[in-house]
Amino acid sequence: MDQHVDQPVASSVYISGAVRRDWTRAEVRALFDLPFPDLIFHAQRIHRLHFDPREVQISTLLSIKTGGCPEDCAYCPQSAHYEAGVRAEKLMDAGAVIAEARAAKSAGASRFCMGAAWRNPKDRDLDQVCAMVAGVKALGLETCATLGMLTGAQAQRLKDCGLDYYNHNLDTSPEFYGAIITTRTYQERLDTLEHVRAAGIHVCCGGIVGMGESREDRVGMIVALATLPAHPESVPINLLVQVEGTPLATGRTLDPLEFVRTIAVARICMPASVVRLSAGREDMSEETQALCFVAGANSIFYGPKLLTTPNPKRDRDRVLMDKLGMLPME
Ligand code: SF4
Repeated sequence: MDQHVDQPVASSVYISGAVRRDWTRAEVRALFDLPFPDLIFHAQRIHRLHFDPREVQISTLLSIKTGGCPEDCAYCPQSAHYEAGVRAEKLMDAGAVIAEARAAKSAGASRFCMGAAWRNPKDRDLDQVCAMVAGVKALGLETCATLGMLTGAQAQRLKDCGLDYYNHNLDTSPEFYGAIITTRTYQERLDTLEHVRAAGIHVCCGGIVGMGESREDRVGMIVALATLPAHPESVPINLLVQVEGTPLATGRTLDPLEFVRTIAVARICMPASVVRLSAGREDMSEETQALCFVAGANSIFYGPKLLTTPNPKRDRDRVLMDKLGMLPME
């Protein structure tokens, strides 16, 4: 029997705030099951051990190559498998991307993330992506890319041209994964993460909730993330945006308090990682977002669009930050 199952979770060492990578399902399940006030208290307490609770890291995400993706991720309007009204476009010109990055910087972003709807980049695509990365970095911004699966050599190339972060999500639990994506395996995702880490690039890796998964799947997703060989430096937790034309266009939406719980558990299990409140903010109330920050979220995407789905306008975010007395992280 798991040694932690019968221990009172709220007083045990495993919510000490220490960084550890041996989380068990029983422990993570017990965190999800805590009374809400206890869970939020521990998450906020641990958050304060590692971060200034007033600070929010701000990233901007630009789609540099939209639509026509051969993968079949059930939530994604950019998949060529679905008719979601997203037109396939060519890779953007590096000059145009750098101009967008300059605008993002003047709007307060400290990191600029470039996303391409590829299964994996071709080596010749990387010439252009490297020009973008170098140009964005020269503006004094941190650089991030999400381009699909990478080989070890491709990850090294991106590192050599100045890439700081690479985003590649695990999406959900290993058990639920097959219900969401059939064109690439969980292991392929883990392999890409290993190549990225081996190249010395910071890892941005999280998942999506509200896709019809069970709480046990949310437990499994957090365990998968928190037991990686090193915790991702950045952990985006996305709330599904239901897009017409995709297989997940309908279905029950997730209770906002369950979303807040997921953020809090991610904060406790990966105490030194930046936890990003990612997709799904457009339809989220200010109150839910505020609870997410109290639960330990400390990063957002800033700007009116997240790849192809809407995101709160910058003014709306500024008002919320002001109301909460929160500041952009330097
Ligand atoms: S999530 Fe990424 S890999 Fe999956 S279909 Fe969309 S663009 Fe392609």
